[in-house]
Amino acid sequence: MSVTIISRSQWGARPWTGSIASVSLSERTEFFVHYDGADPINRTGNAVPQAIERSHLGQGWSGIGYHFVVDQAGNVYEGRGWGLQGAHCPGHNVSGIGVQIAIGGDQAPTDAALRSTRALYDEACAKTGRTLAKRGHKDGFPTLCPGGRLYAWVQSGMPSPGGGNGGATGYVPFPGAEWFKANPVSPIVTAMGRRLVAEGCSAYSSGPGPRWTEADRQSYAKWQRKRGFGGADADGWPGKTTWDALRVPAV
Ligand SMILES: [Zn+2]
Repeated sequence: MSVTIISRSQWGARPWTGSIASVSLSERTEFFVHYDGADPINRTGNAVPQAIERSHLGQGWSGIGYHFVVDQAGNVYEGRGWGLQGAHCPGHNVSGIGVQIAIGGDQAPTDAALRSTRALYDEACAKTGRTLAKRGHKDGFPTLCPGGRLYAWVQSGMPSPGGGNGGATGYVPFPGAEWFKANPVSPIVTAMGRRLVAEGCSAYSSGPGPRWTEADRQSYAKWQRKRGFGGADADGWPGKTTWDALRVPAV
């Protein structure tokens, strides 16, 4: 998937208020995912980067601090772009390309937003000629950013929904324990439940279905015990080792 980037002039960015250092692609080694903050975002279109720009100018910065911003429709807006130093994570503004996915709090990112961000990551790797480290803001600075959902997505390898690297092996990559604790409603939960039933680890009285329930947790705990785990390691919250062993088919 190629990326279309909405340029600063297209979304109506204001001129930079100060000079910003240039950074060559060879200096980039990391790709940081951010969210907007504690509150859900309902803005759409150009209003998304414009609001961030207002906020960052209000902090005395030269303009928007992220390199790119991705909205829930999957639109990608140019911030500092490929060639300028960012203002998104202290100590990582030269080495790290910072991308904000415009959601807040426990708001769920759309598949379109995740697909565009993954495509942007792939583009960044192609441009720099290296595999950039995948990071959430909290990997470089003590913060809640990018929130539980996006951090779980980053930790699971930033799979592109509906295709991409999840399908490469045919199995769903581990979404992270936090993803399950956010009570997801997803075909991944159904596919997981079917695998648990097939492994003789059912605690279901009905289903399995797409909504994560206590029956899913109890079924998963059976699977953990079957794999030889006990105590806190068999609490029913999926971990990477047992998830990979379960081999949930890509959905
Ligand atoms: Zn952040």
